[in-house]
Amino acid sequence: SIPLGYFGGIGAASQNGILFKGSNYLDLITKVDTVVMDKTGTLTKGVFEVQEIVTLNFDKVLMVELTAVLEANSTHPIAEAIVKYAAIKKTNYKSTNVEEISGYGMKGQIGEYEVLAGNTKLLDKFQIAYDENLKSNTETIVVIAINSKYAGYITIADTLKEDAKKAILDLHNFKNIKEVVMLSGDKQAVVDTIANKLGIDKAIGDLLPEDKISEVEKLKAMGRTIAFIGDGINDAPVITIADVGLAMGGLGSDAAIETADVVIQTDQPSKIATAIKIGNSTNKIIW
Ligand code: ADP
Ligand code: MG
Repeated sequence: SIPLGYFGGIGAASQNGILFKGSNYLDLITKVDTVVMDKTGTLTKGVFEVQEIVTLNFDKVLMVELTAVLEANSTHPIAEAIVKYAAIKKTNYKSTNVEEISGYGMKGQIGEYEVLAGNTKLLDKFQIAYDENLKSNTETIVVIAINSKYAGYITIADTLKEDAKKAILDLHNFKNIKEVVMLSGDKQAVVDTIANKLGIDKAIGDLLPEDKISEVEKLKAMGRTIAFIGDGINDAPVITIADVGLAMGGLGSDAAIETADVVIQTDQPSKIATAIKIGNSTNKIIW
């Protein structure tokens, strides 16, 4: 391919829907040896749909209604799926004392019920017993406790983006890239299933937002040059500490886009390989 100058490189990137916020990143991105990716919204569409509702000794319809009234206070894609499914416009319940616990889920008072909806870690935090098999379930689930008792769960499905597999394949084709890592707040069992499907080298789940930062710091301490790509509000701090921080513009939050060094304006994770390719051609020019 024809070598590009820095201006040419930025222009070529922009034609591909990739916005470099400085020519230095065209250089730095070619030195990356470890690509770290967020799962939800980056490799998956981040659009969740309710699949199944399972209750123990609680009325299914009521459990869904209470959960939806609580989740209506959250903008998390999981919350939006439940609210949409329940179609709660006509509910008589109101939520009070609502707390969104980042990386865990939601807590609130819904009428006479105290409701918790989130992952198993949320129930652990409130010392509520549940079926231990839920931990090894390979689907994303929202576990619900009502009045301090495990009530049931809602299965939620997200879908992989069309080019997620190509994104990982393309990265593995660069000699420089030693490892592709996926970080997620979702359960390890879910994360492992996706990593196997996509050919990701290492996948770490059950992470709180601050754990994602320490995972990237660990890699940096090993001397790695890191590119991190994410979409969410939670991802902004990780985007900041990576050597090259990328934000997915398709679904991305403003905070992520603002802190990023490189913004991918489409929702295609394979653009990270395109960005590296453009960096590689740009670098061949000596000024
Ligand atoms: P990620 O984007 O990697 O999934 P998050 O920090 O956004 O990470 O969420 C981590 C986990 O916390 C989710 O997978 C989910 O289990 C739980 N969670 C977060 N917010 C909510 C919510 N509003 N309702 C239910 N569960 C939630
Ligand atoms: Mg996310």
